[in-house]
Amino acid sequence: MAGPDLRQMGVVGAGGAGFPTAVKAGSRVEFVLANGAECEPLVHKDVHVMEKFAPQVVGGMRIMMALTGAQRGYFGVKTKNRHALEAIASRLDGTGIEMTPMGDFYPAGDEYELVYLATGRLIPPAGLPLQVGCVVNNVETLFNVFQAAQGHPVTEKFVSVTGLVGQPSCFRVPLGTPLRQVLEWAGGVTRPDTAVFLNGLMMGRLLEDLDEPVIKTTGALIVLPEDHDLVARRRLPLESKQRIGKSACDQCSYCTELCPRHLLGYDVQPHKVMRSLGFTATGKELWNQYASLCCDCGLCTLYSCPESLYPKEACGKAKADLRAAGIRFTQEKPVQVHPMKEGRRVPSAMLRRRLGVEAFESEAPYRERPGQPALVRLPLQQHVGKPAVPVVSVGARVGLGETLARVPDGDLGADLHASIAGVVRRVTDREVEIEG
Ligand code: SF4
Ligand code: SF4
Repeated sequence: MAGPDLRQMGVVGAGGAGFPTAVKAGSRVEFVLANGAECEPLVHKDVHVMEKFAPQVVGGMRIMMALTGAQRGYFGVKTKNRHALEAIASRLDGTGIEMTPMGDFYPAGDEYELVYLATGRLIPPAGLPLQVGCVVNNVETLFNVFQAAQGHPVTEKFVSVTGLVGQPSCFRVPLGTPLRQVLEWAGGVTRPDTAVFLNGLMMGRLLEDLDEPVIKTTGALIVLPEDHDLVARRRLPLESKQRIGKSACDQCSYCTELCPRHLLGYDVQPHKVMRSLGFTATGKELWNQYASLCCDCGLCTLYSCPESLYPKEACGKAKADLRAAGIRFTQEKPVQVHPMKEGRRVPSAMLRRRLGVEAFESEAPYRERPGQPALVRLPLQQHVGKPAVPVVSVGARVGLGETLARVPDGDLGADLHASIAGVVRRVTDREVEIEG
């Protein structure tokens, strides 16, 4: 099927790394999966995308099915999000798409997990959904696919704002808007001495600069007190995390026993990676290999370890060391789902309690944003691949949706468009700035 040119329309994965959607759309698969799991604590974005824009999301999924030749689609949504689930389910008659209802667990949104739940297939170790006949798209990406088919390039991003703000909310925000502005639209921060997490407490990061712009992968801002344990733990330097782990890890192996990738049958064993901290350089590779298939979900560090150590960070360092040494781990043993997998799921409510964030959980209703940014800064790289190359000059007047930068033919990436109408004030090799 000749569909929208997703590369020219700037569509990239809106739920994570920003992988260009055109590449997925160009593959041939049996199944298209929609990922609406949204499992990070205190993040409420995808639920609104599904509830408020169900026709567009289902429409985008049907376009992806047509482009990839998929006969079936599966829609992963948590049953606790009843309104979103009903909004989607009521539009599926005759589409070849079925619902994949999900429990309220963390991490439900890992694509290895979703592919297994929906199709019963296990992605080969270090492999891609494509290898088992699947492509997986976040629900906001599907919304953007539909918009692209209507001639609208990606110029906005859904962002939820929760925690210590006046009015927790979810907005549709022009790309390039300063995050500080988005916090103000949500009623502003309600007390001094706060810290802001970007894109989740588990897999996101602490924001050091509130003037960072919204990009195509921004999804959530969470404001916590500066003295919250999660903030202190995040700020600890890696060397300290490793040093504490070296002296305090008692090898109880809870981190491994509760690791979702381990339970799915992949050879991830963070307790063995922790063991490597106590060794000299010799033999490290042997232990580090057990980090290779870790998905960075953070459960071991923030939930499983009874001593509050940092196995996720140890795995992160191990993976970086293996990459630097050019060592690629291949799992020899077959992928076999652990018999205790179901019984060892981590309910979201228990995770919130363990993180100490129950008091900050609240509704974050979808609202029209109360204003428009006066100035937007649009980085040329908001996606996996090569940066886009500017095609506008300083002083040019641009309309909403006009192309600002293109990715050269043959390179991986996606084009970039004006998110507000205005005048181009600055063009560098990193970004384009527009004044409205
Ligand atoms: S759970 Fe904590 S103490 Fe136990 S093996 Fe893992 S890192 Fe060590
Ligand atoms: S972060 Fe920890 S729990 Fe999550 S996949 Fe990696 S090792 Fe397993």
